Amino acid sequence: MPPHPVRVTAVDTYDVRFPTSRGLDGSDAMNPDPDYSAAYVVLRTDAADGHEGHGFAFTIGRGNDVQVAAIEALRGHLVGRSADELCADPSVLNRDLVGDSQLRWLGPEKGVMHMAIGAVVNALWDLAAKRADKPLWRLLAEADPAWLVRQVDFRYLTDALTPEEALALLRRGREGAGERTARLLEHGYPAYTTSPGWLGYDDDKLARLAARAVADGFRQIKLKVGADLEDDVRRCRVARAAVGPHVRIALDANQRWDVAEAIRWTGALAAFDPYWIEEPTSPDDVLGHAAVRRAVAPVRVATGEHVQNRVVFKQLLQAGALDVVQIDAARVGGVPENLAVLLLAAKFGVPVCPHAGGVGLCELVQHLSMFDYVALTGTTEDRVIEYVDHLHDHFLDPVVIRDGRYTAPRAPGFSAAMRPESLARFTYPDGAFWAADPDTQKEKEQAA
Ligand SMILES: [Mg+2]
Repeated sequence: MPPHPVRVTAVDTYDVRFPTSRGLDGSDAMNPDPDYSAAYVVLRTDAADGHEGHGFAFTIGRGNDVQVAAIEALRGHLVGRSADELCADPSVLNRDLVGDSQLRWLGPEKGVMHMAIGAVVNALWDLAAKRADKPLWRLLAEADPAWLVRQVDFRYLTDALTPEEALALLRRGREGAGERTARLLEHGYPAYTTSPGWLGYDDDKLARLAARAVADGFRQIKLKVGADLEDDVRRCRVARAAVGPHVRIALDANQRWDVAEAIRWTGALAAFDPYWIEEPTSPDDVLGHAAVRRAVAPVRVATGEHVQNRVVFKQLLQAGALDVVQIDAARVGGVPENLAVLLLAAKFGVPVCPHAGGVGLCELVQHLSMFDYVALTGTTEDRVIEYVDHLHDHFLDPVVIRDGRYTAPRAPGFSAAMRPESLARFTYPDGAFWAADPDTQKEKEQAA
């Protein structure tokens, strides 16, 4: 008798919300009161190993239920399918989900539906890495380059990057990978911290946290800007005084400005030697970013956390619109589309400094940067992963930062799994935390 084939038996979803708005953690010019949330998905199989695939889309509160509904709309593509086949070639699922001809109308490849696809695809990669008994960065770094190329959807990319060029980049990237793996395991990957710079923090808290970041080994911090220019000038002065002249200060406007305003505002802060200006304007405005970049140099332009898909990244690179590519592990269509963006950035020679923070974004995206270092670009020069120091305790395999650097994960998987007790407590609106919150229960009654 052949062994019983392993099937996907369930796609469980959770609307998980953390009340971060109460401490103004995460506050910026566009998002003054985020409740960091995860539309969370667990793929279960009937395998005896008990492995599950965990993934999520990150949102900031209201709308997380909409995001969960979008994930549930994909259930029919998963339940009953062979887990062995899906894990052997995850690109099959990717193509099925992106290619669902009716759901595609809701995008294509953008917005809530595409983020749902990213969550499910990432959950499958988590499962595949657990079954391979490797952390995801290592699974990617040790995969056959031809197999990796097959994971990427090159549709709409070939005018900038062909599969043959990608294969050449990956083959070259593999040279010396063993040595870099050893270095990564010993020294980790450089990080920068946004924790001092939330817009809702007062000057004393900013100065204290900025000085502490330097003492903790960080060589770059980030400040939120864009609500009030006078405040920003003062806060930049406070931060620069706290960190000294040699630590990089990045600025983040979270899409607040029109193009001319972005140029004027960034110019007014240039005296404080900002390293980059992040999301100066709409994430869809390729030519606007290019205009800002020409005008504010040598300040760099960084963007990407809200870029919808690989096509927009391609255009940003083709138009010379950015100096720093900021992938987000949970926004585009998951691991394979982020592979496409890493390959594009490598081809154009632009460094990737991922967006992280939120819920679990640090846990996920570290794997992609570590793969890039070990087996694609081979360098960490001018590359840093964002770090924000909250909500990690809800994860089973939380990030470990040592001396301003991410320590390489060793546990198998994508570091995506949340603690069961956190899922139970913060499920909205009926988990223990929200059930005890009178405002939440009042809203629930009104909705009913
Ligand atoms: Mg940002």
